[in-house]
Amino acid sequence: MDNLLEFNRQQLIDYIHKFGHKPYRAKQLLRWIYRFGEDRFDEMTDVAKSFRLTLKESASIIPPEISFDHLSTDGTRKWLLNVGEKNGIESVFIPEEDRGTLCISSQVGCALECTFCSTGRQGFNRNLTAGEIIGQLWLANKMLRHQDDYSGLEREGRIITNVVMMGMGEPLANYKNVVQALEMMLDDQIYGLSRRRVTLSTSGLIPAMDKLKEDCPVSLAVSLHAPDDKLRDQIVPINKKYPIKDLMAACKRYINKAPRDFITFEYVMLKGVNDSIQQAKLLIQIVKEVPCKFNLIPFNPFPNSGYLCSDKKTINEFKSVLMEAGIIATIRKTRGDDIDAACGQLAGQVQDKTKRTMRIKSV
Ligand code: SAH
Ligand code: SF4
Repeated sequence: MDNLLEFNRQQLIDYIHKFGHKPYRAKQLLRWIYRFGEDRFDEMTDVAKSFRLTLKESASIIPPEISFDHLSTDGTRKWLLNVGEKNGIESVFIPEEDRGTLCISSQVGCALECTFCSTGRQGFNRNLTAGEIIGQLWLANKMLRHQDDYSGLEREGRIITNVVMMGMGEPLANYKNVVQALEMMLDDQIYGLSRRRVTLSTSGLIPAMDKLKEDCPVSLAVSLHAPDDKLRDQIVPINKKYPIKDLMAACKRYINKAPRDFITFEYVMLKGVNDSIQQAKLLIQIVKEVPCKFNLIPFNPFPNSGYLCSDKKTINEFKSVLMEAGIIATIRKTRGDDIDAACGQLAGQVQDKTKRTMRIKSV
């Protein structure tokens, strides 16, 4: 059976062409699958019956399977999804007054071993397919449509207005599948999101950042976390390959492609590690040529992490130093912490972690 979630628009057109059907039928199908969340060909009433029969014989719409569905007291909802062979990934929906953000995963685990990240500790198993990535959106849309028990806010269905690739995995280490999924998010006939509402977060894989700006320049968040190479080498080990100076140059190139935009620098606040006033001042220096905002993320603990979150006061002072230098800085609200749905807490289930060392060499 061919899973239609694996096909972008052109691939779907080519697929149905094999059965002698015209491109407009792909448009009909896309509307049913993505607009209405329909996975039963029999229900696609305006699609010709003979075409439906052909599809039933050869194709299906198969999202990842839900293993657990947790709803936090603050309305955040987290799904653990089974992607086969005892591997699990996580997606998180974060409702706010004026938007609904879905945080999705790009890999089973992650090979990059940032020391403060639970996913990094899990090791790496494999890349997700484009269908497994877009399938997280498809599934969340379907589940949210029927949700009415959420933080007292009554609305018509739960609409996903923003997508962030900040779940498990390093999206740019799974470039081809991630870009296909991003293109599907932006495609008018699929999800039709504007590229400003789709954010990819990377630990800084420079060659892939350069490629992304040509292929699909969505909003970019860069996980900086340290103001100097000595510290960044330790906590974000990929820095040894792509050091800060080169990373800043790559950020500038990315922005030059999209002049009205800015880079969001993510900075996890680790007590006594990267949170001093002096380090904030150093940060101002290193980012001075990059149009940017800072998102300070209070460290979210997980068992045996070996880190503590900076004090509230320290985080506020750190923020003030950046703001006084004219850099917009926000402190990320921690959501869903009662269900371990906060940044860096997504652990999923990762089997066969032995592949990690092999993968590091290849990114
Ligand atoms: N691999 C990508 C995207 C996934 S991680 C990246 O690293 O950017 C999304 C964000 O959560 C990153 O900024 C990451 O550094 C941050 N993060 C990881 N572990 C965290 C933790 N325990 N507490 C707070 N933020 C964390
Ligand atoms: Fe991977 Fe991002 Fe976690 Fe680093 S912070 S280990 S790149 S998921």
